[in-house]
Amino acid sequence: MLQTRVIPPAENAYQYPLLIKSLLLSGVRYERNREIVYRDKVRYTYPTLIERVARLANVLSAAGVKAGDTVGVMDWDSHRYLECMFAIPMLGAVLQTINIRLSPEQITYTMNHAGAKFVLCNSEFIPVFNGIAAHLHSVQKTILLTDGEEKTADLFNLVGEYESLLAAASPCYDFQDFDENSVATTFYTSGTTGNPKGVYFTHRQLVLHTLAVSTTLGSLDGNRIMGNSDVYMPITPMFHVHAWGMPFAATMLGLKQVYPGRYDPEFLVELWKKEKVTFSHCVPTILQMVLNAKAAQGVDFKGWKLIIGGSALNRSLFLNAKERGMHLTTAYGMSETGPIISGAYLNDGDLAGTEDQRTASLLKAGVPVPLVQARIIDAEGKSLPHDGHAQGELVLRAPWLTMAYFNEPEKSAELWEGGWLHTGDVAAIGTGGAIEIRDRIKDVIKTGGEWISSLELEDLISRHPAVREVAVVGIPDERWGETPFALVVLRDGESLDAASLQMHMLPFVDQGRINKWGIPRSIALVSEIPKTSVGKLDKKVIRLQIAQWQTEGSSVISSL
Ligand code: AMP
Repeated sequence: MLQTRVIPPAENAYQYPLLIKSLLLSGVRYERNREIVYRDKVRYTYPTLIERVARLANVLSAAGVKAGDTVGVMDWDSHRYLECMFAIPMLGAVLQTINIRLSPEQITYTMNHAGAKFVLCNSEFIPVFNGIAAHLHSVQKTILLTDGEEKTADLFNLVGEYESLLAAASPCYDFQDFDENSVATTFYTSGTTGNPKGVYFTHRQLVLHTLAVSTTLGSLDGNRIMGNSDVYMPITPMFHVHAWGMPFAATMLGLKQVYPGRYDPEFLVELWKKEKVTFSHCVPTILQMVLNAKAAQGVDFKGWKLIIGGSALNRSLFLNAKERGMHLTTAYGMSETGPIISGAYLNDGDLAGTEDQRTASLLKAGVPVPLVQARIIDAEGKSLPHDGHAQGELVLRAPWLTMAYFNEPEKSAELWEGGWLHTGDVAAIGTGGAIEIRDRIKDVIKTGGEWISSLELEDLISRHPAVREVAVVGIPDERWGETPFALVVLRDGESLDAASLQMHMLPFVDQGRINKWGIPRSIALVSEIPKTSVGKLDKKVIRLQIAQWQTEGSSVISSL
């Protein structure tokens, strides 16, 4: 350590902790009349948001919530969730955003592991909650969230219904200062193997993340996509990395915010129209769902800027969305990283280049946002050059990465081996610093000594005009170790077999984009591709499904 002049606490007249409450209090200074909207049911302005957060804090305190307690929320994206994102951490308690799409066993595991003492539960999840209540070790009290009239429900140790409790509570609460390194939020990774793992974020981390997100989205001329006159609507569940941290940024800046509840693509399109939404974020499969909605047909989406992250965005979906008027920007991150790590950016060179070069830049995971450090390393942990070619595991440092997996010392040591967070992603980094994710380490297809990126194959296959959606996995092969297998959803009225797919892929072999082993010898035409709880391609389930088809000799498979 360098011997610097550190200010001793006694010389420090006032220690300003970076706390989430500061984010809540700034938006209203700019715009008092901007609205928070929930479906077609609720709308109110920023002063009311602040008041409702105070009411909720009073309700929770009266129910016994103390600093350090964990409070779980089971809800769709709503104004109530937004209120919880502030009130719970502002009390010094920890907000657990419960992934309601996990299996009941996994939900039980995450609540027990986090030690959730209180749960705010949407009436839709009462059957799930009651089904697991007997196995929950720490939950003491519940609060009912509902869009309906019911004020009571058959819910374990129910304190009451949210709106009635808020209405009866004081609209003032004196939120105390505390250490900025206090944990504010926790949630569990969707974990394709083993139990879900808990990650957690402190007030300081979330404040810095919010500042970095706002700076990146609002200040870079190459990609200025969120200012405070935008109208924000998440299409990422709030349980998935706090809707990528965007509600904190939107609130800090005073944007109009629209919360859509349970996702129904037809309703999302209607809400987008009605509320004049201009800024959203989602995974590629949700974007596809929105574009396919009946209500979306013939609609010009001009003016809708979307961040697409969580999975690779392929070229045909990008172009399709662009044709329909949307402005897409890719971003990269993980549950462990809070999530923002990088975002697509068009530099002067890109802007002066061809349309094709710009598209290629926009499809990359992008440039690390301010304060993020990114490296790629080989299997021995040695740094690889940032030349756009060398590929290795992406490792990261930033002030807002989870410090560990909660109560999982071994997995935490692996995550932070060598003092860098290991992403489990294979990437290349260009000379300018842009990250290109080649694949998840465990999804790379190892065939005949070659490593083939399943993401690249998906991108190339998606360019076939008959293909609406595609997933590629490596399946065991006696001769080559693994061989690629494609699951394809066709566009209406189209057809495809393994031979015509081969014809489509051969030019990419000639251009040197892939080697010939990259052409899937087998494909399956399906009506739907299995997805994870947050809408990503579920490659584990896909592999199991293919193995089963192979055992049964199923006719869905077309082979060369
Ligand atoms: P999760 O923690 O469930 O959000 O998953 C994080 C993983 O999603 C990363 O490790 C990547 O494999 C993948 N991912 C996220 N963003 C992108 C992106 N822009 N391009 C490719 N893969 C991505």
